[in-house]
Amino acid sequence: MTDIPRLLILGGTGEAATLAETVHTQFSERLDVIYSLAGRTKPIRDFVTAVRVGGFGGGIGLADYIISEKIKLLIDATHPFAKNISANAHDACFSTDTARLTLTRPPWDLPPGAKFIEADDMKCAALILPDFAKRVLVTTGQSNLNELKKLTDIHFFIRVMEKSSEHTTQKNYTFIDGLPPFSLDEELALMEKYNIDTLLTKQSGGTSTINKIIAAIRRRIPIVLIRRPPPEPGEHVESIEDALMWLEQRL
Ligand code: NAP
Repeated sequence: MTDIPRLLILGGTGEAATLAETVHTQFSERLDVIYSLAGRTKPIRDFVTAVRVGGFGGGIGLADYIISEKIKLLIDATHPFAKNISANAHDACFSTDTARLTLTRPPWDLPPGAKFIEADDMKCAALILPDFAKRVLVTTGQSNLNELKKLTDIHFFIRVMEKSSEHTTQKNYTFIDGLPPFSLDEELALMEKYNIDTLLTKQSGGTSTINKIIAAIRRRIPIVLIRRPPPEPGEHVESIEDALMWLEQRL
């Protein structure tokens, strides 16, 4: 056990992994870094930092972890749609008086001329889709697919990183395996192959999954974009550089 301060990075995104590696390199003498993953899918890269995997057991579990592991700083670099862990991080840091920063990639700024409709959630998307969609590429993950089940006049091509055993008997669902990032050519070919007429996706932002948006714009098909949940209150940055500056100011 060293005396240098400990940073916990809540991860699961490309930005979080890059941040962890950069902190490990740039602050090696001054910070001890622990990178945390939920463990839903296999990690897609190797890490140079210490990694812990699995939930903490809610906000109270995370607060206990912060105390027992002597965490002094926490960066929540989870996905903008991972709202439970962010709420837990907020509560746990508040109750343990731990400095917390949220790092969230900026949302996509769709160009003029792009056909897109925003929806608050999958339930709202399910109300919008029957007006124009017949063959929909879905890249929203596997939660809330129940909302689409009743739309039997629409076929859904659902891209997933790891197929679950749920929904396999649903006749209007076809699951497509895929591990991002995808090139623009790959996205165009996929949309061509399945004759996709609508893209249903989340306002995730970032560069690693933007090609599906560009491909949909090129094909002039509508994009139904699920809005982000509101962020937790507190300090917030949108770039790794700004997160490093925040750390620098605290050491
Ligand atoms: P979520 O609903 O906010 O989290 C569900 C539970 O998973 C949390 O309450 C927590 O369990 C555990 N958890 C989540 N992230 C964790 C982390 N980094 N370290 C340890 N435990 C974590 O999140 P989700 O939407 O299921 O996403 C799960 C993970 O996948 C997140 O880390 C996120 O960054 C990543 N991810 C999510 C999306 C997305 O679209 N939602 C996309 C790409 C990557 P306990 O309450 O037991 O602590």
